[in-house]
Amino acid sequence: MSRAGAGALRLAELIRAEQPVVALTGAGISVPSGIPDFRSPQTGLWANVDPMAVAHIDAFRRDPARFWSFYGQRFASLRGKRPNGAHHALVELERRGLLAGVVTQNIDGLHTAAGTRDLVEVHGSIATSSCLSCGSRYELEIVRGRLDAEPDGVPRCDCGDALKPDVVLFGELLPERALMRAQAMAAAAGVLLCVGSSLEVYPVAELPEITLRAGGRVAIVTRSATPYDADAELKLTGDVEEELEAVVAALQVGG
Ligand code: ZN
Repeated sequence: MSRAGAGALRLAELIRAEQPVVALTGAGISVPSGIPDFRSPQTGLWANVDPMAVAHIDAFRRDPARFWSFYGQRFASLRGKRPNGAHHALVELERRGLLAGVVTQNIDGLHTAAGTRDLVEVHGSIATSSCLSCGSRYELEIVRGRLDAEPDGVPRCDCGDALKPDVVLFGELLPERALMRAQAMAAAAGVLLCVGSSLEVYPVAELPEITLRAGGRVAIVTRSATPYDADAELKLTGDVEEELEAVVAALQVGG
């Protein structure tokens, strides 16, 4: 079990003692699946672009072809990516009744692919794309097909207008129902288990505060510093897969 051992054991005890547990995940949980965190600079195709400028709703409305020339690469970079041990560990905890649900910032769909049942995607997901003109919605594989087939690289609705991925772009409002659900889950949590997030981006940044104010605890499994490190019951800085797999193993041993 290596370095993950001692901290993971304490986290396992906390999970057992302070139900219900809600997980809050960010880009760090998908890094072992080969998906770079686009907010950290100098990573792959994001090295030379400003996501705030290209992944902005105004950029989509102004010039869908330019938007898709960029966002199509994001779709391509997510193609074929598989959930990793950290995603599966959360599914296992949920299956055993030790995890009430997952709130995620990620749009990659890997929690769903792993089998998480109760999932709130506060930044949306690439699972579908929608037409802003007529409201039609299309599944990912259809959007991929149209993206590949269109000469200008813009996947289009049957009505002819450009499709927009159902992810929250910069400049867009967050999905209100998902946001309210995430806030309610954070308020009810005995432990908010924060995984792979620097907890700096709204709305995720406010959720640990909601848990703490309601009398719950915060546990963090993240390499980087977060604004909640001092308030957290514990913080594990090892590899996310190793840490969470060790937690699952510790809970198995304890029955
Ligand atoms: Zn349409």
